[in-house]
Amino acid sequence: MDNRIPTPQEQLKFLKNIQLILQSGSFSSTYKFALLMSLSRLAIERGEDSSECLSLEYTDIAEKFIELYWKQAVPYAFNHEDQLILNQNNGKQAAIVNRILQFRQNYSSLGLLRRDSIVWLRLLKDVAKTVKDMPVRYLQNLNGKNFEFLYQLDRCGKQLNLLPNVMYCLRQFNEVIEELCQKRWIDYIRKNSINAPILNQLPNLEKFMFEPSRNQLNAVSNVLAELQECRCFYCNKPIKKGSYAVDHFIPWSMYPSDTGHNFVLADIRCNSKKSNLLASNEFLHKWKERNHEHDLMIIDRIAILGFLTDKERSHKVAEWAYSQGKENNYLMWKG
Ligand SMILES: [Zn+2]
Repeated sequence: MDNRIPTPQEQLKFLKNIQLILQSGSFSSTYKFALLMSLSRLAIERGEDSSECLSLEYTDIAEKFIELYWKQAVPYAFNHEDQLILNQNNGKQAAIVNRILQFRQNYSSLGLLRRDSIVWLRLLKDVAKTVKDMPVRYLQNLNGKNFEFLYQLDRCGKQLNLLPNVMYCLRQFNEVIEELCQKRWIDYIRKNSINAPILNQLPNLEKFMFEPSRNQLNAVSNVLAELQECRCFYCNKPIKKGSYAVDHFIPWSMYPSDTGHNFVLADIRCNSKKSNLLASNEFLHKWKERNHEHDLMIIDRIAILGFLTDKERSHKVAEWAYSQGKENNYLMWKG
C-alpha cells in the first residue's frame, strides 16, 4: 500500500480550496454544506490515513444527508406558539426536506424508519439520486468554472470516487470543515428570504439545527443508567438522580455526529472536567470493552431513539480521533 501522505503545501492548498468553495456565492440550497460534511464524515468512518483514493456509495452519502436533514425537518418553535419549517433552498423548499417531511408523519424517529427496511432502502435510493444530480454536480462549480479538486465528475459512475489525497485531507481537517460548514449553513438559513423575517434576532439556531435534543438525550440517559448500573463511566462512583449527564466519549467538538455507541453516562463532575477533551487510553479500552459486551443492547435500545448504531463505524471514528490527538498533541483527560 502507498504510505505517502500529502505534502504540507498540498494540504494547505486543499484547505484553501474548501474555503473558496464555501465562500463562493453560488449556493442555491444548503445541499452543498450537507455534501461536504457527509464526505468528511465518511472519510473518517470508511477511510484511513493515507493518500489513496476512496470510493463512496451514493447511498452512504444519502444516509448522511437524511441524518442531517431529519433533525432540521421539524418546526423550529419560537415565541411560545409560533413555528416554522426552515427553508433550505432559494425559492420553494428543498426536495430532500419535502421527502423527509412526508416520512416524519409516519415515523416518530429515524430509528423506526431504518427498521422498515424496504421503505428505508427506497428513501436512500431516492435521496441518493438527488444527491448525485444536484450537489455532487454543482459543488465544485465556482462562478461557472469547473474546479474539480475533490472528485472528477466524468470519473464517477455508480460510486463517487474521491481523488488521491482527498480522503487524507478530509480526515486531517474534519473539525475545521465541520465548523465552517455549520457556520455557513446557519448563515444561509438566517439570510434565506423566507426564513429571514422570522429568524432575525432569534437566538441560537445552532442547537436546533445540529445538536441532539434534550428529550433524546434524556431517553439515552435512562438506557445508560441501566447499562452502567447507575455508576459513573469514568470514576465508577454511584450517580445520584438528576446529577449526571450523557457524555460524548469522542467529544462532540471533534466529531459532531451522534452515534449510539459513543454515549456514556458520567456524573456532573467528571462530565464537566472531561469537557471537550479525549479521555486517556485506559478509558478508550474500557469504552471498547463496554461496546463489545453490550453491543446488542445498544443497537436494540439506542437505535430506536434515532441514532446511528454501528460499532465498527464508532470505533473507526475513535481510531481517527486518537490518532489526531496523538499527532497534534491534544491534551488528554486522565480522570
Ligand atoms: Zn465520575
